[in-house]
Amino acid sequence: MADTPKTPAREGSLDAPFRHPIAWQDEAYYDLAAVEKEMERQFDVCHTCRRCFNLCDSFPRLFDLIDESKTGELDSVDKADYAKVDEACTLCDMCFLTKCPYVPPHEFDIDIPHLILRYRAAKRRAGERDVVRDQLGQTDRNGRLAKPVAKIANWATARKNTPLRKLLEAIAEIDAEVELPKYHAKTATDLLPTPIPPDPAGPAFGQRKVALYATCFVDYNTPDAAVAAARVLAKQGVEAKLVYPECCGMPSWRRAISAMWPDAPNGSPPSSPPISTRAMRLRL
Ligand code: SF4
Ligand code: SF4
Repeated sequence: MADTPKTPAREGSLDAPFRHPIAWQDEAYYDLAAVEKEMERQFDVCHTCRRCFNLCDSFPRLFDLIDESKTGELDSVDKADYAKVDEACTLCDMCFLTKCPYVPPHEFDIDIPHLILRYRAAKRRAGERDVVRDQLGQTDRNGRLAKPVAKIANWATARKNTPLRKLLEAIAEIDAEVELPKYHAKTATDLLPTPIPPDPAGPAFGQRKVALYATCFVDYNTPDAAVAAARVLAKQGVEAKLVYPECCGMPSWRRAISAMWPDAPNGSPPSSPPISTRAMRLRL
């Protein structure tokens, strides 16, 4: 009798990568013990792989914790120290998008950025707050407050203002040596209330219109970048309208605030979630 042909085993990552949806409406998503267990599982894969050793500060922190532990393995790393890995993660997504061969559909099912986001959401649900970072994430409010007193705000936060920066470091843990964004009396929205007339000699004249989303950083902190971009587009004949309805919500999302809407009445999401949350829903 002839042997039944067998389907050869497939390496998981030969298929296109995908992402599991963020289960933010599921109570189990916020189970801190379950999140830490999953962190242990995924971190152990990272420990044996170490491909991301130079990608950011999170991975070196993880590997140092393991290497300096009693057994040299993850089992003797205190789970409370996972917070040190979390602290250094900017959710840049680079490990998922560019490095990791073990993302879904690979059976190892690795997604460190989503895991860190879940960890933050679970800790927030457990009552943990980082008041300073939460306040720094209120970019529209901060920008509106700083705009009328931009010169004073910039003087106060300048690196050479050592006494105040040392005080800020002591209170808010903002490194006294780091250069902080500057504020301006005129935002990008003020500088570009209407589109710059497009150049009729530009190749795109009469054919192209664009909306330039300023972002909070450009609107409040680097308005010249918006003006420069609008000028380049105008020179090409493109009519560019600057728009900035509100912060995209990314700072809150990174703090896992939008991921769980903790302050929403009855725990239900607000009717108008931040722009980034809507965008992430589409993207994810
Ligand atoms: S994220 Fe993936 S590639 Fe990076 S260390 Fe972990 S297992 Fe390796
Ligand atoms: S998402 Fe986090 S862990 Fe991954 S590369 Fe970026 S900072 Fe590092």
